[in-house]
Amino acid sequence: DIESLSDLEKLTVIGHGNGGTVYKVRNRKSSSVYALKVLRFDQNAAVIRHQVACEAEILKRVDSQFVVKCLAVFDTIGGDLCFVMEHMEKGSLYDELRVRVKLPEDVVSVIAQRVVRGLQYLHGMQIVHGDIKPSNLLINGKGEVKIADFGVSKIVVGTRNACEACMGTCAYMSPERVDPERWDGGNADGFSGDVWSLGVVLLECLVGHYPLIGLGEKPDWAALICAICLGERLEIPETASPDFRSFVRRCLEKDWRKRGSVDELLGHPFVNRIL
Ligand code: ATP
Ligand code: MG
Repeated sequence: DIESLSDLEKLTVIGHGNGGTVYKVRNRKSSSVYALKVLRFDQNAAVIRHQVACEAEILKRVDSQFVVKCLAVFDTIGGDLCFVMEHMEKGSLYDELRVRVKLPEDVVSVIAQRVVRGLQYLHGMQIVHGDIKPSNLLINGKGEVKIADFGVSKIVVGTRNACEACMGTCAYMSPERVDPERWDGGNADGFSGDVWSLGVVLLECLVGHYPLIGLGEKPDWAALICAICLGERLEIPETASPDFRSFVRRCLEKDWRKRGSVDELLGHPFVNRIL
């Protein structure tokens, strides 16, 4: 029912990401509330823009209760791309972790179940998310977690500090994405990369901080990349339940060929605690 951008009235700024701003908006006719993500592209970014526009077509066909719904995509005269999305009232898991710091295992179990089901849906459509991280897992008014931003957020347009932006995303990347030569000769399909990222996110939820140890408060770029490549520094706490430990170990298997698939993970007891 949203025919053009002029149907929407901007209410507030929700936040900023790489190359874009997210607004809370209202449909003037129906007064329904949505989130509007506006991505800016400079003249040099025509190719990337085209790529995003193509991905936007796929995005509109995605329809799952575990994935944030994209209702419409608009171009502006200035060259921006605007995505009208379901508004997720309670923000992201990133915001939640800043307030609550650590989440109880039962909550982490429910998050894991929803994200795995969302990934099963996307992977079933041959879509690799490519950027699973706390700021892309959003929470609605009912407290339900959904996956947001596939395809849209992986493009870094030089607005924010590029290094910082890349750190934010690389921190959750699988070894085979960080160093394809070393980890698979460049053959990984990408699906298992999403599973790795989920493992890092779940560990972060449980321990309350980014789970690579020994890197200090503000790790530098090289140290972070090395740590992921060497794959030696992800520590699962001894105090976690055996279910949690075995689930996360299946996600954080360094060799992507041996890593758990979404179908396997959906049968794991850790995600079947609360049905
Ligand atoms: P990246 O650009 O790498 O994805 P990011 O996820 O932090 O980084 P955005 O996706 O642009 O950046 O999101 C900016 C902010 O807007 C985030 O804090 C996110 O929680 C919020 N946000 C994004 N989409 C929605 C939505 N549909 N409903 C509510 N809040 C949203
Ligand atoms: Mg995002």
